[in-house]
Amino acid sequence: MGETGSEGAGGKTAVEVAFAKLFGAARRQPYASLEERVDRLERLASLLVSGQEAFVAAIDADFGGRSAHESRLVDVVLALKAATDALAHVHEWMRPQPVAALRWFRPGRAFFEYVPKGVVGVIAPWNYPVNLALSPVAGALAAGNRVLLKPSELTPRTAALLAERVRDLFSAEEIAVVEGGPEVARALTLLPLDHLVFTGSTAVGRQVGLAAAAALTPVTLELGGKSPALVHPDYPMAKAAARIALGKLFNGGQTCIAPDYALIAAGREAAFTEHFTATVQRAYPNLADNPQYTAVVNDRHHQRLLALVEDAVAKGAQVQTVAPHGAPKARPRRMAPVLLFGVNDQMRVMQEEIFGPLLPVWTYRSVDEAVTYINDHPRPLSFYYFDDDDRRVADVLHRVVSGDATVNDTMIHFAQESLPFGGIGASGIGAYHGEVGFRTFSHPRGVMVASGVSPARRLLAPPYGRLVDAGLKAMTSRVGRWLGA
Ligand code: NAD
Repeated sequence: MGETGSEGAGGKTAVEVAFAKLFGAARRQPYASLEERVDRLERLASLLVSGQEAFVAAIDADFGGRSAHESRLVDVVLALKAATDALAHVHEWMRPQPVAALRWFRPGRAFFEYVPKGVVGVIAPWNYPVNLALSPVAGALAAGNRVLLKPSELTPRTAALLAERVRDLFSAEEIAVVEGGPEVARALTLLPLDHLVFTGSTAVGRQVGLAAAAALTPVTLELGGKSPALVHPDYPMAKAAARIALGKLFNGGQTCIAPDYALIAAGREAAFTEHFTATVQRAYPNLADNPQYTAVVNDRHHQRLLALVEDAVAKGAQVQTVAPHGAPKARPRRMAPVLLFGVNDQMRVMQEEIFGPLLPVWTYRSVDEAVTYINDHPRPLSFYYFDDDDRRVADVLHRVVSGDATVNDTMIHFAQESLPFGGIGASGIGAYHGEVGFRTFSHPRGVMVASGVSPARRLLAPPYGRLVDAGLKAMTSRVGRWLGA
C-alpha cells in the first residue's frame, strides 16, 4: 500500500511527509542528468511491462468488467509509449538552444535551456487509471522532476497496485504515491508544488485552479466536456456512423474524448441508426456477457446515465436502444448503447458531459448551423469532423475552436504521442504528451554569458555619453524609417 492521507510523523499528514522528502531532494539536487532521467524512464517502462497482467486484472476488478484489450492498449501500451518516446528523444529535448545575442552584447553568448521545475503533483481520474497516472509521470521524469502522484479512489485496487510497484522501483525522493479520496487530493493542491497536473472533471478542475492559484503553482488542467462529432452531408454515413459508434463505445463510453454527441444532416437519422446498429452487432455480438464490452464503473454512474435518458424522454426525445442481441441482463452495468433523437438544450443530456454509452443525435439544416451550435457552447476537448473535401475540412477546423481534433475518425489523435494533448477554455488549460509535455514540465531558463569586451559593457553604464545617445537615436529612427513614420 502507498501513503494515505492519515496523520504521519510529527503531526504531519502522509501527503505532507511524502512531499517534504521530494521537496528536500529537489532543492538539494535540482538538476537531473541525462543518465538519471534515462534510468528513471527505464524503470517506469519496466514497471508497466512487468506489471501489465496485474494492472489488467486490477482495472477489471475495479470496473466490474473492463475489456482486457482496452486496458492493454490504453493503460499499458500507450503509457509505455509515453516512456519509450521520452527515452528516445530526451537527449534532444534537453539540449541547450543557442540564440542570437544583441549586437552590442557580442561576443557574449545567449542560450536557453529547459530545466526541471522541481516537484510535480499528478492527480488522476478513474477512467484510464494507469495511463492518466503514468503518462504525466513519464513527461515529468523526462523533464528531470520528482513526482507526487494521487490516483483515483474510484479504482482502489489499481491505485494500491500503482503505489506498491512505484515503491518497489523508485525511492521516496523520486516518486511517491498517495492514496485516498478528495480530501487527500485537496491537501495535495494546497502544497507549494512546482507544477500540478490535474486530470478530471471541469467542476473539480475549477477548485484545483483556485487552490493552486493561492500557492502560485502553475497548472495543467486536463478536463472534460462535450466533444461533438460533425458529419458533412456528403460523407458516407456507413463510415461515419461506424467510427462514431466505435469511439463512443470504447471503455463503455467513459472516455474524456469520446464523441459526446453527433451532428448529422436532417433526414439522415434512419441511415445513421442502421449503420450504428450494424457496427454494434459486428463489434459486440452478445452484449450481455461480452468481456470486450466495458461496464459502467459503478452503480452511481449507472443511475446517473439512466436518469439522463429519463430526463430526455420526459422532455420529448425519441430513444432507440441498440441491443441487437437483447439487452444485457447478467451484468446490468454493461449498459446497452442508447441513441437519442429530437434532442434540445433543455435536456440534461445536451448540457452535461455524458461519460457513458448514450449518444444524442442533433440534426442540422446546414453545416453553418451545426458550427454555430458548437461554438455557442463551451469549447470542446476534442472535435471530430467527417468530410473528404480538404478545403472544407481546413475551413471548418479553423471555425471550431477545440483542444484537439481528429478528421474522419474519433479519438485517434490521443494515441499520437508526438501530438500535444490538452483542452481549451472549459475543457482545460495547457497540454502534455511528447515534447510538448517535456516543455510543460520544464522551465525554459534564458542564460546570457557576458563578455568583458562587448561594447555594451563600456557604453551602457553611467555617465552616459554622446555615443550612447547617437546609438539609441539610430535604433529608433531606423525602425521609424521602416514604418514610414
Ligand atoms: P473527478 O474530477 O471527480 O476526480 C479526478 C481526481 O480528482 C480524483 O483523483 C479525485 O480524488 C480528485 N479530487 C476530487 N476532489 C478534489 C478536489 N477538491 N481537489 C483536488 N482533487 C480532487 O473526475 P473523475 O470522475 O475521476 O473522471 C472523470 C472526468 O475526468 C470526466 O469529466 C472526464 O472528461 C475527465 N477526464 C479528462 C481527461 C483529459 O485528459 N482531459 C482524461 C480523463 C478524464
